[in-house]
Amino acid sequence: MEKIISLCKRRGFIFQGSEIYGGLAGTWDYGPLGVTLKNNIKRLWWEMFVENRDDMYGVDAALIMNPKVWEASGHVAGFADPLENGEKFNVMFKTSVGAGEEAIVSYLRPETAQGMFVNFKNVIDAFHPKLPFGMGQIGKAFRNEISPRDFIFRTREFEQMEIEYFVKEKDWKDFFENWREQMFDWMKAIGLPKKSIHELEVPEEDRAHYSKRTVDFEFDFPFGKKELYGLAYRTDFDLRNHSASSGVDLQYFEEETGERFTPHVIEPTFGVDRTILAVLTSAYTEDELNGETRTYLKLSKSIAPVKAAIFPLLKNKPELVEKAREVYMMLKKEIPQIVFDDNGNIGKRYRRQDEIGTPACITIDFDTLKDDTVTVRDRDTGEQKRVAIKDLKDSI
Ligand code: ATP
Repeated sequence: MEKIISLCKRRGFIFQGSEIYGGLAGTWDYGPLGVTLKNNIKRLWWEMFVENRDDMYGVDAALIMNPKVWEASGHVAGFADPLENGEKFNVMFKTSVGAGEEAIVSYLRPETAQGMFVNFKNVIDAFHPKLPFGMGQIGKAFRNEISPRDFIFRTREFEQMEIEYFVKEKDWKDFFENWREQMFDWMKAIGLPKKSIHELEVPEEDRAHYSKRTVDFEFDFPFGKKELYGLAYRTDFDLRNHSASSGVDLQYFEEETGERFTPHVIEPTFGVDRTILAVLTSAYTEDELNGETRTYLKLSKSIAPVKAAIFPLLKNKPELVEKAREVYMMLKKEIPQIVFDDNGNIGKRYRRQDEIGTPACITIDFDTLKDDTVTVRDRDTGEQKRVAIKDLKDSI
């Protein structure tokens, strides 16, 4: 863990929140490479689970909601952890909305899910989707955790990628199974090794108040096997309670059968920050290359924050620098996540790029000036091959 935290700070992935003031427990700031890695993960998730499908509807709901939402959802009464003395402590962050006597007490949302349930009717009215269909959302959630710890694993402000998938009650088992598989597909897509993932059937006494079945996906983090994601069968708990409490009918009307009923919900939930920690943990590698020990991040190409680095072989040869700049500008239009680097010698540049997980390093040398080919070095094997400039985009 120490090595990962130190690499994250040194290379600009993740910094302690408010560091110059001594930090604030449970908060972390993403630096330039961290935010790119995070955006790549969120974009991949959004494409896979929202954009590339016909049965999903994306939303981006407000973080601060009417406090009645949190009463109906059961969070005001039940979203509490035990303190040492056994007392229950509600982990929602209270805040006041509005000025003076008009102010009301509300909460920063502790999960993104409710932003979808309260918009269920809006989506139905605007799009008339057929069951089964789902809603997806990516956004911040806040929990005043009693003891934040383990870097970005347990923080007080974090991000979630959540899906509420609405089905007929009789179909819940099939869709639960179906989403279990889709969650494994996702973990594969971001390069998490299957052997590091363990499913846990959560016993009734440990399940959230709304869940009739929960499977946790645990991951072998450096500090032990801990929850990465969850898959819950939330029944019709939320829609039913919001209907009763708001007085707005949140039932679904099925045209074919003329039936009116409250759909049941399967909820796959993915923590963004825990995803990043799992990705960094499995990518962090120390090996020996050409007789030297090195550290590198074996990030999958789909999420690596830098896809390729372009170097002139020598910094003090203007013709090489000019050609390298030209190749860089050309590629940058096609693949924005690339960098130009002419600092230090080639060995140092390779080491720097390895440490941030750049899959390919491209060197412009004297042969390039003659035949328009460059050297492409592979991060994992260190192998180099000659590639024509015109084939570079496909090659990386
Ligand atoms: P835990 O048991 O570890 O507190 P939880 O079961 O309360 O987690 P959920 O309510 O299922 O977590 O939240 C959904 C997802 O949000 C989790 O699977 C996790 O990825 C993420 N998550 C929850 N709490 C935190 C936190 N404090 N910091 C970072 N991510 C979190």
